[in-house]
Amino acid sequence: MNLKALHKISYGLYVVASRKGERFNGQIANTVFQISGDPPTVAVSINKQNLTNEFIKDSKVFVVSVLAREAPLSLIGQFGFKSGRETDKFAGMEYGTTLSGVPYLTGPVLAYLEARVVEEVDAGTHTIFIGEITGAEVLKEGTPMTYAYYQQIKRGSVPKTAPAFTPKTGERGLQMDKYVCNVCGYVYDPAAGDPEGGVPPGTPFEKLADEWVCPVCGVGKDEFTKEG
Ligand code: FE
Repeated sequence: MNLKALHKISYGLYVVASRKGERFNGQIANTVFQISGDPPTVAVSINKQNLTNEFIKDSKVFVVSVLAREAPLSLIGQFGFKSGRETDKFAGMEYGTTLSGVPYLTGPVLAYLEARVVEEVDAGTHTIFIGEITGAEVLKEGTPMTYAYYQQIKRGSVPKTAPAFTPKTGERGLQMDKYVCNVCGYVYDPAAGDPEGGVPPGTPFEKLADEWVCPVCGVGKDEFTKEG
């Protein structure tokens, strides 16, 4: 058995949000899919340990924001690598709320879907929530983010065939080692730099400013380890 076969399945990337009373929470999920068309029904699979799971069970409502390709790493980090138990993930975000009072993001987001839970399936570590769509809007046209695009391009690991690829040795013979974030697994690739953080391609890790932080989860340089 080769479980790498699972990596051949393609996915999108979404923020799934819910509420408990007046509190909001949301998280990154790739497991959103349409089940049927009449009535329009979708399902999401959410880890039981996540606060969003608790909120969906409480309110019986979830809202899916469909991320656009240009969604920044910082947004994915905010919703993917922080816990709503410690921070209000929607603080400082641009968002609207649906009729049932659940937030959807309005920045780099193409559409949202609001669903009322009609069935919960216990799937061991996860709960599959099946929801009938009660609200949906297209916010703008664009290309949706896919999980593969996020992994291959946004995380700075650039294939040799990509135009952005530069040789391992940089300016004045400096070694161009990749560094991995111990917290979230983001890889700093000097060949790609960190364009969202204002770091041009070809900048060695050692030359990053002391204040530079992981673009995904926000920890400092001291939380990075040389790859390999
Ligand atoms: Fe990180």
